Amino acid sequence: MKLIDGKATAAGIRAELAAQVAALGASGIVPGLAVVLVGDNPASVSYVTAPERACAAVGIRSFPHHLPAATTQAELLALVARLNADPAVHGILVQLPLPKGLDEDAVLLAIDPAKDVDGFHPVNVGRMMLGQPAMLPCTPRGICVLLERAGIAVAARHVVVVGRSNIVGKPLANLLLQKGADATVTVCHSRTPDLAEHTRRADILVVATGRPNTVTAGMVKDGAVVVDVGVNRIPDATKKRGYRLVGDVDFDGVAPKASAITPVPGGVGPMTIAMLLANTIEAAQPR
Ligand code: NAP
Repeated sequence: MKLIDGKATAAGIRAELAAQVAALGASGIVPGLAVVLVGDNPASVSYVTAPERACAAVGIRSFPHHLPAATTQAELLALVARLNADPAVHGILVQLPLPKGLDEDAVLLAIDPAKDVDGFHPVNVGRMMLGQPAMLPCTPRGICVLLERAGIAVAARHVVVVGRSNIVGKPLANLLLQKGADATVTVCHSRTPDLAEHTRRADILVVATGRPNTVTAGMVKDGAVVVDVGVNRIPDATKKRGYRLVGDVDFDGVAPKASAITPVPGGVGPMTIAMLLANTIEAAQPR
């Protein structure tokens, strides 16, 4: 069994990105990422500090905008409009979920698609589906790059994706079935009868459900590649912070059967942040 090391792969990518930032700097461009956080949900606060640190490490300027929970839709849209017009800002990330009362779809639609480094704007989603150049969503793109750099071909393989969210399952399935990627893709969800019947047929199994132990050893074919996207906090009194992170796959049970598997943490997560940086640098390229 090979451990697919997302942490090391992402570190290598970040070094390549730092070189790209330096090259852009020679022509007077410093890539800039605006990170918009509304309210003070502790989980969201920790999600935005990671990209801010990662930006600094590769030379991307970050512009944090931490707004109070009472921010109105009009105020948020006005900020997005200012960021759209700001030439120092090449990428805009609005941390989801937004507090109740704010319309996420309207906010995502207001972001200039050229600055939509999350790849959530309908224009980018549509372009991706059509196989046109697009800003790709970070987690699905990160999974594709991780597999590629681990030397795992997806062409002509049967990939089973468990989960159909707009940020992971659906876009990933779409990327994998594009011409050039050429995987055969099955997508499963909570209404799929007999999930194991599908997962057992996977050459490559990607699990993104947000539920620990969604996939256990008996659900995996011998020699399959397993990508665990899940990030779940499990109470753990032995840890200083009172919890530990686990994925959606029973790692200890599944790893001995897999030919390769991603760990949690240290698998898909670091790749997601690396792709956010990559999208920001691409958005900053002169055109
Ligand atoms: P989500 O929006 O909650 O979607 C979960 C999907 O899994 C849904 O499509 C749901 O089906 C399906 N599902 C739930 N339980 C299932 C079951 N028992 N069997 C089959 N399908 C089931 O979650 P998400 O945003 O895609 O995230 C999934 C996980 O990935 C979470 O743990 C999240 O924290 C993690 N994540 C990690 C990264 C990273 O960078 N590492 C990035 C994004 C997300 P229905 O559609 O029928 O409800």
